[in-house]
Amino acid sequence: MKKDWIKEMRILVEGSFLADEPLRKHTSFRIGGPAELLYIPKSQDDLIRAIHFLDKNGIKRYVIGAGTNILVSDSGLKGCVIKLANSLRGIKVIKKEKQKVHLNVMAGEPLRRLNEFAVKKGYIGTEFCFGIPGSVGGAIAGNAGTRLGEMADIVKSLTLVREMGEIETIERERIFFSYRECGIPEDSVILSAEVVLRDGGRDVSIKSIEELRQYRKKSQPYGYPSAGSVFKNPKEDSAGRLIELAGLKGLRLNDAEISQMHANFIINRGKADAKSVIKLIDIARSEVQKLFGIRLELEIRLLGEF
Ligand SMILES: Cc1cc2nc3c(=O)[nH]c(=O)nc-3n(C[C@H](O)[C@H](O)[C@H](O)COP(=O)(O)OP(=O)(O)OC[C@H]3O[C@@H](n4cnc5c(N)ncnc54)[C@H](O)[C@@H]3O)c2cc1C
Repeated sequence: MKKDWIKEMRILVEGSFLADEPLRKHTSFRIGGPAELLYIPKSQDDLIRAIHFLDKNGIKRYVIGAGTNILVSDSGLKGCVIKLANSLRGIKVIKKEKQKVHLNVMAGEPLRRLNEFAVKKGYIGTEFCFGIPGSVGGAIAGNAGTRLGEMADIVKSLTLVREMGEIETIERERIFFSYRECGIPEDSVILSAEVVLRDGGRDVSIKSIEELRQYRKKSQPYGYPSAGSVFKNPKEDSAGRLIELAGLKGLRLNDAEISQMHANFIINRGKADAKSVIKLIDIARSEVQKLFGIRLELEIRLLGEF
């Protein structure tokens, strides 16, 4: 790797540059070692230029949104972590036809804001994402959702920044969404999305949102840092139910704990490290496999070496 790449990059692109930045400050888990560089682009063009620079120089890059679905290793990440949450923002109505509204939404926009925007205008389709933290880009990358729907239901096309900063727009037919997966090529950074909603239904939205609000209040441990559900639900079952049946609720390792309230959440009770979280993940996996013959798959993304 080039020695003074950070200095060189600073000359070419604008944005915020944080060297040796502790990633625990940028994840909802409050866990994660330092990034060699955390870069927050100032504009879309800066993001493109940055990716071109990093790829040309063979510097490893990662992209994160708001860091609400990731576990970063304690040793941190070599290379450049590009953070988009709250940097590349914007929601624009691009066209209205019949009962449909097409929006262009930038990847760094908070998902919460997209939902608020839609409800305020009386557009239907985003209610399912009420209470899901994070950015629109992160939500699309993980096809985030609830029992009321998922991102795949509202995305019409994506604009991606590919290797060497090439821009590519892909239509819905070529985006292979599945449960908590988006299926875009590995090197892609989602820049923006065209989202299609239905016009005219403020009351419908508010009713669905209220239902989700009550469900979340009862079932999810909001008081402690976490990354949401650790495992994907296996077909026709729930990972939380299986982990609870395995008697693992409340299991604690250092400051990491399988939540007493929802067994598919691991919470950080203070100074939890990634190593302890991984150990709890391994225990839950092997107990559930042993008792029920079901292999739990991770929903959270691991970044770094484990
Ligand atoms: C309390 C709590 C409750 C949650 N509830 C839910 C829920 O109900 N349903 C649900 O699905 N999730 C839930 N989550 C998980 C999480 O909020 C969502 O997955 C969210 O959409 C992640 O967005 P993010 O911006 O934080 O992504 P990050 O965590 O920053 O990134 C997640 C993944 O997406 C990739 N990524 C991020 N941005 C981009 C981009 N622009 N282009 C390409 N790849 C990108 C990252 O590389 C990483 O692999 C919850 C999390 C918490 C903490």
